[in-house]
Amino acid sequence: MKQIYLDNAATTQVDSKVFLAMKPYFFKKYGNASEPHRMGQEARLAVEQAREKVADFLGVKQEEIIFTSGATESINLAHKGLIEALNFKNPHIITSSVEHKAVLETCKYLENKEIATVTYLPVNEYGLVNIQNLEKAITDQTVLVSIMYANNEVGTIQPIKEIGALLKKQDHKIYFHTDATQAIQYLDCSVDNLGVDLLSFSGHKIYAPKGVGALYIRKGTPLKSQMRGGGQEGGLRAGTENVPYLVGLGKAVEMIYDLRFKNDDSVKKLQSLLIEEVLKIPGVKLTGHPAERLPHIASFIVEGVEGESLVLLLSDKGISASTGSACTASDLVPSHVLSAMGIKAEDAHGSLRFSLGKDTTEQDIRSVVEVLPGIIDRLRRMAPKL
Ligand code: PLP
Repeated sequence: MKQIYLDNAATTQVDSKVFLAMKPYFFKKYGNASEPHRMGQEARLAVEQAREKVADFLGVKQEEIIFTSGATESINLAHKGLIEALNFKNPHIITSSVEHKAVLETCKYLENKEIATVTYLPVNEYGLVNIQNLEKAITDQTVLVSIMYANNEVGTIQPIKEIGALLKKQDHKIYFHTDATQAIQYLDCSVDNLGVDLLSFSGHKIYAPKGVGALYIRKGTPLKSQMRGGGQEGGLRAGTENVPYLVGLGKAVEMIYDLRFKNDDSVKKLQSLLIEEVLKIPGVKLTGHPAERLPHIASFIVEGVEGESLVLLLSDKGISASTGSACTASDLVPSHVLSAMGIKAEDAHGSLRFSLGKDTTEQDIRSVVEVLPGIIDRLRRMAPKL
Protein backbone atom coordinates (compact mmCIF):
# COMPACT_ATOMS: atom_id res chain seq x y z
CA MET A 1 0.00 0.00 0.00
CA LYS A 2 1.32 3.45 -0.87
CA GLN A 3 2.17 5.40 2.26
CA ILE A 4 1.01 9.00 2.46
CA TYR A 5 2.97 10.78 5.14
CA LEU A 6 1.17 13.85 6.46
CA ASP A 7 2.87 14.10 9.85
CA ASN A 8 5.84 16.31 8.97
CA ALA A 9 5.28 18.51 12.04
CA ALA A 10 6.10 15.42 14.14
CA THR A 11 9.20 14.55 12.16
CA THR A 12 10.49 14.46 8.59
CA GLN A 13 12.32 11.93 6.48
CA VAL A 14 16.08 12.57 6.28
CA ASP A 15 16.75 14.08 2.86
CA SER A 16 19.10 12.07 0.64
CA LYS A 17 21.38 15.12 0.18
CA VAL A 18 21.58 15.48 3.96
CA PHE A 19 22.38 11.79 4.33
CA LEU A 20 25.08 11.92 1.64
CA ALA A 21 26.69 14.93 3.32
CA MET A 22 26.73 13.04 6.65
CA LYS A 23 27.91 9.66 5.39
CA PRO A 24 31.70 10.26 5.19
CA TYR A 25 31.69 11.38 8.84
CA PHE A 26 30.54 7.93 9.99
CA PHE A 27 33.15 5.97 8.11
CA LYS A 28 36.27 7.72 6.81
CA LYS A 29 36.20 11.04 8.61
CA TYR A 30 35.32 9.84 12.08
CA GLY A 31 37.80 11.87 14.12
CA ASN A 32 37.01 13.57 17.41
CA ALA A 33 36.65 17.29 16.71
CA SER A 34 38.61 18.16 19.89
CA GLU A 35 41.78 16.30 18.79
CA PRO A 36 44.67 18.20 17.20
CA HIS A 37 45.61 15.51 14.65
CA ARG A 38 44.56 15.65 11.01
CA MET A 39 41.42 13.55 11.44
CA GLY A 40 40.37 15.55 14.46
CA GLN A 41 40.88 18.80 12.59
CA GLU A 42 38.94 17.49 9.60
CA ALA A 43 36.01 16.85 11.95
CA ARG A 44 36.45 20.28 13.59
CA LEU A 45 36.33 21.95 10.19
CA ALA A 46 33.09 20.12 9.36
CA VAL A 47 31.51 21.21 12.65
CA GLU A 48 32.54 24.84 12.12
CA GLN A 49 31.27 24.80 8.54
CA ALA A 50 27.92 23.53 9.81
CA ARG A 51 27.92 26.31 12.40
CA GLU A 52 28.64 28.85 9.70
CA LYS A 53 25.63 27.63 7.69
CA VAL A 54 23.29 27.96 10.67
CA ALA A 55 24.77 31.35 11.61
CA ASP A 56 24.42 32.67 8.04
CA PHE A 57 20.82 31.51 7.91
CA LEU A 58 19.94 33.36 11.12
CA GLY A 59 22.10 36.36 10.18
CA VAL A 60 24.37 36.02 13.21
CA LYS A 61 27.99 35.33 14.16
CA GLN A 62 29.24 31.75 14.36
CA GLU A 63 30.12 32.08 18.03
CA GLU A 64 26.46 32.83 18.76
CA ILE A 65 25.38 29.29 17.74
CA ILE A 66 25.53 26.35 20.16
CA PHE A 67 24.78 22.84 18.93
CA THR A 68 22.55 20.62 21.07
CA SER A 69 20.60 17.36 20.82
CA GLY A 70 17.45 19.20 19.70
CA ALA A 71 14.92 21.88 20.53
CA THR A 72 14.09 20.39 23.94
CA GLU A 73 17.69 20.69 25.09
CA SER A 74 18.06 24.15 23.54
CA ILE A 75 14.91 25.31 25.32
CA ASN A 76 16.06 23.87 28.67
CA LEU A 77 19.46 25.51 28.29
CA ALA A 78 17.95 28.86 27.29
CA HIS A 79 15.51 29.03 30.22
CA LYS A 80 17.41 27.38 33.05
CA GLY A 81 20.78 28.65 31.82
CA LEU A 82 19.62 32.27 31.67
CA ILE A 83 17.85 32.25 35.04
CA GLU A 84 20.85 30.61 36.74
CA ALA A 85 23.37 32.93 35.12
CA LEU A 86 21.41 36.09 35.99
CA ASN A 87 21.28 35.09 39.64
CA PHE A 88 18.45 37.60 40.05
CA LYS A 89 16.29 37.75 43.17
CA ASN A 90 12.73 36.58 42.33
CA PRO A 91 13.06 36.43 38.54
CA HIS A 92 9.82 36.46 36.53
CA ILE A 93 9.20 34.71 33.20
CA ILE A 94 6.36 35.38 30.77
CA THR A 95 5.35 32.65 28.36
CA SER A 96 2.15 31.52 26.66
CA SER A 97 -0.27 28.75 27.48
CA VAL A 98 0.15 27.19 24.02
CA GLU A 99 3.91 26.55 24.09
CA HIS A 100 5.35 23.11 23.46
CA LYS A 101 5.79 20.99 26.59
CA ALA A 102 9.55 21.61 26.36
CA VAL A 103 8.88 25.23 27.37
CA LEU A 104 5.92 24.62 29.67
CA GLU A 105 7.56 21.83 31.65
CA THR A 106 10.81 23.80 31.99
CA CYS A 107 8.85 26.79 33.28
CA LYS A 108 6.89 24.58 35.66
CA TYR A 109 10.15 23.11 36.96
CA LEU A 110 11.53 26.60 37.65
CA GLU A 111 8.26 27.52 39.34
CA ASN A 112 8.03 24.35 41.46
CA LYS A 113 11.60 24.72 42.64
CA GLU A 114 10.79 28.36 43.51
CA ILE A 115 13.59 29.51 41.23
CA ALA A 116 11.27 31.78 39.22
CA THR A 117 7.66 32.88 38.97
CA VAL A 118 5.90 32.39 35.66
CA THR A 119 2.97 34.07 33.91
CA TYR A 120 1.26 31.89 31.31
CA LEU A 121 -0.49 34.26 28.91
CA PRO A 122 -3.91 33.26 27.60
CA VAL A 123 -4.56 33.11 23.86
CA ASN A 124 -7.63 33.91 21.77
CA GLU A 125 -9.78 31.43 19.85
CA TYR A 126 -7.12 31.28 17.11
CA GLY A 127 -4.27 30.60 19.53
CA LEU A 128 -2.85 34.13 19.30
CA VAL A 129 -1.17 35.91 22.19
CA ASN A 130 -2.37 39.47 22.78
CA ILE A 131 0.47 42.03 22.93
CA GLN A 132 -1.43 44.31 25.33
CA ASN A 133 -1.82 41.37 27.72
CA LEU A 134 1.89 40.69 27.43
CA GLU A 135 2.74 44.33 28.13
CA LYS A 136 0.47 44.30 31.21
CA ALA A 137 2.18 41.16 32.53
CA ILE A 138 5.65 42.79 32.53
CA THR A 139 6.95 43.68 36.01
CA ASP A 140 10.28 45.03 37.30
CA GLN A 141 11.19 41.40 37.96
CA THR A 142 10.56 40.17 34.40
CA VAL A 143 13.80 38.86 32.93
CA LEU A 144 12.62 36.50 30.21
CA VAL A 145 9.77 36.36 27.69
CA SER A 146 9.46 33.06 25.84
CA ILE A 147 6.89 32.91 23.04
CA MET A 148 6.92 30.31 20.29
CA TYR A 149 7.24 31.56 16.71
CA ALA A 150 4.50 29.24 15.45
CA ASN A 151 2.44 26.54 17.07
CA ASN A 152 3.04 22.87 16.34
CA GLU A 153 -0.58 21.74 16.77
CA VAL A 154 -2.56 24.44 14.97
CA GLY A 155 0.13 26.35 13.05
CA THR A 156 -0.78 29.83 14.37
CA ILE A 157 2.06 32.32 13.92
CA GLN A 158 2.72 34.66 16.86
CA PRO A 159 3.63 38.35 16.38
CA ILE A 160 7.28 37.81 17.30
CA LYS A 161 8.59 40.98 15.64
CA GLU A 162 6.06 43.14 17.50
CA ILE A 163 6.89 41.45 20.80
CA GLY A 164 10.60 41.97 20.14
CA ALA A 165 9.97 45.69 19.52
CA LEU A 166 7.86 45.99 22.68
CA LEU A 167 10.54 44.38 24.83
CA LYS A 168 13.21 46.70 23.44
CA LYS A 169 11.20 49.70 24.69
CA GLN A 170 11.23 48.56 28.33
CA ASP A 171 13.32 50.35 30.99
CA HIS A 172 15.22 47.22 31.93
CA LYS A 173 16.64 44.39 29.84
CA ILE A 174 14.15 41.56 29.21
CA TYR A 175 15.63 38.65 27.30
CA PHE A 176 13.46 37.23 24.52
CA HIS A 177 13.44 33.55 23.56
CA THR A 178 11.48 32.03 20.71
CA ASP A 179 10.92 28.38 19.93
CA ALA A 180 11.27 28.38 16.14
CA THR A 181 11.09 24.59 15.73
CA GLN A 182 8.07 24.59 13.42
CA ALA A 183 8.70 28.02 11.89
CA ILE A 184 12.26 27.71 10.71
CA GLN A 185 11.39 25.97 7.43
CA TYR A 186 8.91 28.62 6.35
CA LEU A 187 9.29 31.97 8.13
CA ASP A 188 11.87 34.74 8.29
CA CYS A 189 14.30 33.78 11.03
CA SER A 190 16.75 36.70 10.88
CA VAL A 191 17.05 37.25 14.58
CA ASP A 192 17.70 40.99 14.30
CA ASN A 193 14.45 41.46 12.39
CA LEU A 194 12.64 39.50 15.08
CA GLY A 195 14.44 41.15 18.00
CA VAL A 196 15.08 37.86 19.80
CA ASP A 197 18.05 37.05 22.05
CA LEU A 198 17.60 33.27 22.05
CA LEU A 199 16.15 31.00 19.36
CA SER A 200 15.75 27.21 19.48
CA PHE A 201 15.14 24.59 16.82
CA SER A 202 15.55 20.88 15.96
CA GLY A 203 17.02 19.21 12.89
CA HIS A 204 14.42 16.47 12.43
CA LYS A 205 11.64 18.87 11.43
CA ILE A 206 13.74 20.10 8.49
CA TYR A 207 14.95 16.83 6.91
CA ALA A 208 17.99 16.28 9.17
CA PRO A 209 18.10 13.35 11.63
CA LYS A 210 16.46 13.21 15.05
CA GLY A 211 18.63 14.12 18.02
CA VAL A 212 20.36 17.27 16.77
CA GLY A 213 19.48 20.94 17.09
CA ALA A 214 20.80 24.36 17.87
CA LEU A 215 20.38 27.38 20.10
CA TYR A 216 21.13 30.92 18.99
CA ILE A 217 22.47 33.01 21.88
CA ARG A 218 22.85 36.73 21.22
CA LYS A 219 26.32 37.94 22.20
CA GLY A 220 26.23 39.26 25.76
CA THR A 221 23.30 37.07 26.87
CA PRO A 222 24.33 35.42 30.14
CA LEU A 223 23.87 31.65 30.14
CA LYS A 224 25.04 28.91 32.48
CA SER A 225 25.82 25.51 31.04
CA GLN A 226 23.44 22.75 32.13
CA MET A 227 25.98 20.05 31.32
CA ARG A 228 29.32 19.69 33.01
CA GLY A 229 32.17 17.91 31.27
CA GLY A 230 34.75 18.50 28.57
CA GLY A 231 33.95 22.14 27.85
CA GLN A 232 32.84 21.76 24.21
CA GLU A 233 30.66 24.40 22.52
CA GLY A 234 32.40 27.27 24.27
CA GLY A 235 31.80 25.60 27.64
CA LEU A 236 28.02 25.78 27.17
CA ARG A 237 27.38 22.21 26.11
CA ALA A 238 29.92 19.65 27.19
CA GLY A 239 30.15 16.33 25.34
CA THR A 240 31.92 15.09 22.21
CA GLU A 241 30.37 16.72 19.17
CA ASN A 242 28.10 14.51 17.05
CA VAL A 243 29.96 15.41 13.88
CA PRO A 244 27.85 13.55 11.26
CA TYR A 245 24.61 14.90 12.71
CA LEU A 246 25.94 18.44 12.87
CA VAL A 247 27.02 18.16 9.24
CA GLY A 248 23.47 16.95 8.47
CA LEU A 249 21.96 19.87 10.36
CA GLY A 250 24.14 22.36 8.47
CA LYS A 251 23.13 20.83 5.14
CA ALA A 252 19.43 20.82 6.07
CA VAL A 253 19.55 24.49 7.08
CA GLU A 254 21.35 25.34 3.84
CA MET A 255 18.63 23.51 1.91
CA ILE A 256 15.92 25.70 3.41
CA TYR A 257 16.71 28.52 0.93
CA ASP A 258 16.23 26.13 -1.96
CA LEU A 259 13.11 24.52 -0.55
CA ARG A 260 11.53 27.87 0.16
CA PHE A 261 12.22 28.97 -3.39
CA LYS A 262 10.80 25.79 -4.92
CA ASN A 263 8.17 24.68 -2.43
CA ASP A 264 6.70 27.47 -0.38
CA ASP A 265 3.91 28.26 -2.74
CA SER A 266 3.12 24.67 -3.58
CA VAL A 267 2.89 23.62 0.08
CA LYS A 268 0.55 26.56 0.72
CA LYS A 269 -1.59 25.65 -2.30
CA LEU A 270 -1.85 22.04 -1.19
CA GLN A 271 -2.74 23.19 2.32
CA SER A 272 -5.53 25.40 0.89
CA LEU A 273 -6.84 22.51 -1.19
CA LEU A 274 -6.82 20.20 1.82
CA ILE A 275 -8.56 22.74 4.07
CA GLU A 276 -11.17 23.54 1.44
CA GLU A 277 -12.00 19.89 0.84
CA VAL A 278 -11.98 18.79 4.49
CA LEU A 279 -14.26 21.67 5.49
CA LYS A 280 -16.89 20.33 3.07
CA ILE A 281 -17.41 17.43 5.49
CA PRO A 282 -20.31 18.30 7.86
CA GLY A 283 -19.33 18.96 11.49
CA VAL A 284 -15.67 19.72 10.77
CA LYS A 285 -14.00 23.00 11.83
CA LEU A 286 -10.56 24.43 11.16
CA THR A 287 -8.44 25.15 14.24
CA GLY A 288 -5.81 27.88 14.45
CA HIS A 289 -5.68 31.21 12.70
CA PRO A 290 -7.34 31.24 9.26
CA ALA A 291 -4.57 33.39 7.72
CA GLU A 292 -1.66 33.79 10.16
CA ARG A 293 -0.74 30.12 9.99
CA LEU A 294 2.19 28.02 8.85
CA PRO A 295 1.77 26.71 5.31
CA HIS A 296 2.30 23.08 6.25
CA ILE A 297 -0.16 22.59 9.13
CA ALA A 298 -3.88 21.97 8.57
CA SER A 299 -5.68 21.09 11.80
CA PHE A 300 -9.32 20.38 12.45
CA ILE A 301 -11.92 19.45 15.01
CA VAL A 302 -14.14 16.63 13.82
CA GLU A 303 -17.36 16.59 15.81
CA GLY A 304 -18.57 13.33 17.30
CA VAL A 305 -15.39 11.26 16.82
CA GLU A 306 -12.16 10.66 18.68
CA GLY A 307 -8.94 11.87 17.10
CA GLU A 308 -7.11 8.66 18.02
CA SER A 309 -9.66 6.52 16.18
CA LEU A 310 -9.40 8.78 13.15
CA VAL A 311 -5.62 8.47 13.15
CA LEU A 312 -5.81 4.68 13.41
CA LEU A 313 -8.35 4.27 10.60
CA LEU A 314 -6.38 6.67 8.38
CA SER A 315 -3.30 4.61 9.18
CA ASP A 316 -5.13 1.48 7.94
CA LYS A 317 -5.41 3.28 4.60
CA GLY A 318 -1.67 4.08 4.60
CA ILE A 319 -2.09 7.68 5.75
CA SER A 320 -0.05 9.10 8.65
CA ALA A 321 -1.69 12.02 10.47
CA SER A 322 -1.87 13.01 14.14
CA THR A 323 -4.19 14.13 16.91
CA GLY A 324 -3.67 16.53 19.78
CA SER A 325 -5.38 14.38 22.39
CA ALA A 326 -3.35 11.71 24.05
CA CYS A 327 -4.88 8.58 25.45
CA THR A 328 -3.63 7.75 28.94
CA ALA A 329 -4.43 4.52 30.75
CA SER A 330 -7.62 5.85 32.27
CA ASP A 331 -8.68 8.82 30.21
CA LEU A 332 -8.41 10.87 27.08
CA VAL A 333 -6.46 14.04 27.82
CA PRO A 334 -7.41 16.93 25.55
CA SER A 335 -4.60 19.00 24.06
CA HIS A 336 -3.51 21.91 26.26
CA VAL A 337 -3.31 24.05 23.11
CA LEU A 338 -6.92 23.46 22.11
CA SER A 339 -8.08 23.90 25.72
CA ALA A 340 -6.23 27.24 25.92
CA MET A 341 -8.03 28.28 22.72
CA GLY A 342 -11.33 27.76 24.52
CA ILE A 343 -12.26 24.53 22.72
CA LYS A 344 -14.39 22.31 24.96
CA ALA A 345 -12.81 19.00 26.04
CA GLU A 346 -15.41 16.90 24.21
CA ASP A 347 -14.69 18.74 20.94
CA ALA A 348 -10.92 18.78 21.49
CA HIS A 349 -10.99 14.96 21.55
CA GLY A 350 -11.85 15.07 17.87
CA SER A 351 -8.69 16.91 16.85
CA LEU A 352 -6.93 15.89 13.67
CA ARG A 353 -3.73 17.39 12.27
CA PHE A 354 -2.27 16.93 8.82
CA SER A 355 1.19 18.36 8.29
CA LEU A 356 2.57 18.58 4.78
CA GLY A 357 6.16 18.31 3.63
CA LYS A 358 8.34 19.05 0.64
CA ASP A 359 7.38 15.76 -1.03
CA THR A 360 3.61 16.00 -0.51
CA THR A 361 1.75 15.86 -3.82
CA GLU A 362 -1.70 16.92 -4.96
CA GLN A 363 -2.49 13.23 -5.43
CA ASP A 364 -1.70 12.64 -1.73
CA ILE A 365 -4.20 15.33 -0.75
CA ARG A 366 -6.83 14.02 -3.18
CA SER A 367 -6.42 10.49 -1.77
CA VAL A 368 -6.88 11.76 1.80
CA VAL A 369 -10.00 13.77 1.04
CA GLU A 370 -11.41 10.80 -0.81
CA VAL A 371 -11.21 8.42 2.16
CA LEU A 372 -11.72 10.84 5.06
CA PRO A 373 -15.52 11.39 4.78
CA GLY A 374 -16.13 7.62 4.81
CA ILE A 375 -13.92 7.14 7.88
CA ILE A 376 -15.63 9.96 9.76
CA ASP A 377 -19.05 8.61 8.81
CA ARG A 378 -18.13 5.12 9.98
CA LEU A 379 -16.83 6.39 13.33
CA ARG A 380 -19.88 8.56 13.88
CA ARG A 381 -22.19 5.62 13.21
CA MET A 382 -20.21 3.52 15.71
CA ALA A 383 -20.29 6.21 18.44
CA PRO A 384 -22.78 5.51 21.25
CA LYS A 385 -25.80 7.78 21.03
CA LEU A 386 -26.25 9.79 24.23
N1 PLP B 1 9.00 22.89 20.08
C1 PLP B 1 8.12 22.63 19.11
C2 PLP B 1 7.25 23.74 18.60
C3 PLP B 1 8.01 21.34 18.57
O1 PLP B 1 7.12 21.10 17.60
C4 PLP B 1 8.86 20.33 19.10
C5 PLP B 1 8.72 18.94 18.61
O2 PLP B 1 7.64 18.46 18.36
C6 PLP B 1 9.77 20.66 20.09
C7 PLP B 1 9.82 21.95 20.56
C8 PLP B 1 10.71 19.63 20.69
O3 PLP B 1 11.61 19.18 19.71
P1 PLP B 1 12.54 17.91 20.00
O4 PLP B 1 11.62 16.79 20.40
O5 PLP B 1 13.24 17.66 18.70
O6 PLP B 1 13.48 18.28 21.08
